[in-house]
Amino acid sequence: MRIGVDLGGTKIEAIALDATGRELARRRIASPSHDYALTIDAVRALVEGLEAELGAGRGRVGVGMPGAISSLTGRIKNANSTELNGRPLAEDLARALGREVRVENDANCFALSEASDGAGAGRRLVLGVILGTGVGGGIVHDGRVWVGPNAIAGEWGHNEMPSRTEPGLPDTRCYCGRRRCIETFVSGPGLAADHRRDAPSGASATLDAAAIATLARASDPDAVATMARFYERLAAALATVINVLDPDVVVLGGGLSNIEPICDEVLARLPAHVFSDTLATPVVRNRHGDSSGVRGAAWLWPA
Ligand SMILES: [Zn+2]
Repeated sequence: MRIGVDLGGTKIEAIALDATGRELARRRIASPSHDYALTIDAVRALVEGLEAELGAGRGRVGVGMPGAISSLTGRIKNANSTELNGRPLAEDLARALGREVRVENDANCFALSEASDGAGAGRRLVLGVILGTGVGGGIVHDGRVWVGPNAIAGEWGHNEMPSRTEPGLPDTRCYCGRRRCIETFVSGPGLAADHRRDAPSGASATLDAAAIATLARASDPDAVATMARFYERLAAALATVINVLDPDVVVLGGGLSNIEPICDEVLARLPAHVFSDTLATPVVRNRHGDSSGVRGAAWLWPA
């Protein structure tokens, strides 16, 4: 039995999968507010609760979290759940649970879930792309997460947005200190900010990405223009990754992946940006939705 745990900002979820990936049980609790010791206790309680419920012995435990593991120190870095930063999470969980625990970035868990039995199943090189509050991603090769020596593989969101086809690209600022990061254009807040820049009426100020996409489908001209810029920028930015990695499939996740025409719109625009006479790369929506993170954490262990 595999057990996956997803450490989110607002909830901690745990899932038990059998050897084939079938869900056996699932539990969810609210995250203890910014308290590291309580977080460790909560994970132990969730895992032991699942094991008691199923009566199938001890599982192998993988944990997804919103940060990276420093290859220098083994401690968590870059987590927006800041109580995790600087902590030896895998070590502390291993002590609490009395077994080895694998810990991985949640975008990598998303990619692993979709590569294992999701929209990227059967493909050798899977690029999982998160388009949500932030923009991130993960790379899975032959069923294993490709982490890299800096633990940043797949983090394309903080590269600069290509401006070759858009010389007047707005000069955005990113929280990371850089300018014109891809994330500042094709994240949910980035899309909403772009709409405010271009259609600065009172009504547009409060629209989020989903509302803009809905307006565009109803042929609101400002929203149609915003979405066209969004799709074009997403295609141009993804093309820079495809040119380097040439993945067998691109799987979209995060809240913006629910925008209905996103895959078709991006696929229609990609060929103009990719350095190839033909484009054989499928761009598909994820299969497991909100469950991809917790399922991918379970898949951190081989069968
Ligand atoms: Zn940035």
